[in-house]
Amino acid sequence: MKNTIYSKLKFIQYNCIEAQRLAIKRQETKLLPSEYMRLKVHMAGCSVCREFEKFSALVNKAMHTRLHSMNSNATATLEDNYKKDLQQKIDDFLNHDNK
Ligand SMILES: [Zn+2]
Repeated sequence: MKNTIYSKLKFIQYNCIEAQRLAIKRQETKLLPSEYMRLKVHMAGCSVCREFEKFSALVNKAMHTRLHSMNSNATATLEDNYKKDLQQKIDDFLNHDNK
């Protein structure tokens, strides 16, 4: 009885980690029918994972956009003000640790 469809569905019903793994996988590739079904069952009853999937899709899209923009602009640099601000934060952090 361990590997029946019912036991697999019961397993996913209360397993957010597995559901989120499948949600991430779905963004990169097509799920197997059994994976898709388990994810659907979980998402039907878990608002946390539904929100996780939306947020994860946004992050994934932003990362793809960022990577594509970096590839088309190989000479990307940081702005001077950003560098100065970052250096100040590093200095402040190091000075704080030395006190
Ligand atoms: Zn969940």
